[in-house]
Amino acid sequence: MSTGYVYHELYGWHDTGTHAGLLPADPRRGLQPFRHYENAEAKRRVHELVVATGLVDRLTRLAPRPATDDEILLVHTPGHLARLTEADATGGDAGDGGSPFGPGALGIARLAAGGVIRAVEAVVDGAVDNAYALVRPPGHHALADIGMGFCMLGNVAIAAQAARRSRGVERIAVVDIDVHHGNGTQAAFYDDPDVLTISLHQDRVFPPNSGFVTERGTGAGFGRALNLPLPPGTGNGGYLEAVRRVVLPALHRFRPDLVLVAAGFDANPVDPLARMMVTARGYREIARMLVGAAAELCGGRVVFAHEGGYDPVYVPFCAHAVIEVLAGVEEPFEDPFGVNFDNQGQQEAQPHQLAAIEAAEKLVADIG
Ligand SMILES: [Zn+2]
Repeated sequence: MSTGYVYHELYGWHDTGTHAGLLPADPRRGLQPFRHYENAEAKRRVHELVVATGLVDRLTRLAPRPATDDEILLVHTPGHLARLTEADATGGDAGDGGSPFGPGALGIARLAAGGVIRAVEAVVDGAVDNAYALVRPPGHHALADIGMGFCMLGNVAIAAQAARRSRGVERIAVVDIDVHHGNGTQAAFYDDPDVLTISLHQDRVFPPNSGFVTERGTGAGFGRALNLPLPPGTGNGGYLEAVRRVVLPALHRFRPDLVLVAAGFDANPVDPLARMMVTARGYREIARMLVGAAAELCGGRVVFAHEGGYDPVYVPFCAHAVIEVLAGVEEPFEDPFGVNFDNQGQQEAQPHQLAAIEAAEKLVADIG
């Protein structure tokens, strides 16, 4: 088993600036200057843990390259790219007022999208069996004409389109396990019958009023968007049930040639931006099921692309567990927080969570 691994130090140099978490620091509003929630640490510490435990020695390093204009324009409008280019010398915002970046960030965003492209190409070409792209900034909220939710470019959507164009991959499934709705990826393929987008997320966290179970695609793409908004408090039990009863059957009906996973780790119990309870153990099991499905359906061709996850202490253990699964590590590194988080009350699936899962489960039959 060989697993590709993308990381670049420049991912940590994307500067979201002085903030008070989500908001610009502003003493007039009582917002003392601090860091932005989306800062380098959670991702940088994933990489450092991967190096420190020796897991990196089991991986095949893949050097990212910048996504080209052509590749970016497979998903985004020329206007969006022009606005990012224009603001690149000074820094600015990717569009929604909540996606700040410093000077030179477009080059880093290109390297993030290009990192996912590189991982996908390596898997499709058979250079590696599967891959993990630890990229930053994240991408799954970015829309064609505007960045949002800390995202400048739609990394996964761009990589999917690039794989179709350069490698002739026909059917792609995107499974988004970030705690927020994968609205950008969904929008990029909303009328596309050959790309299935599935998003598991906490009900109505971000974007506002997005990711309802009723959002199902349009035209020829009807049925090829699947949303599973889960109640706050959903833990390992509910998530594993959701993957078993919705995601795996959907993948089996769709029969993809390639699976991409938008791997956000903000559904963990201590994330500042959501209220879920998935632990490293849960992420490990989710990854096992997705890797297993890819093995059954498409020769194991699966690429995980890093998205959100904002607790710098715990995210590394969640991502490390997923990368171990990809690499087929049989003796996993122990999550030192497992004793704190794995046995919290209501980790098992609750009735109201099962009701949400059942609502999405009913729609799987429409995926042809
Ligand atoms: Zn997120």
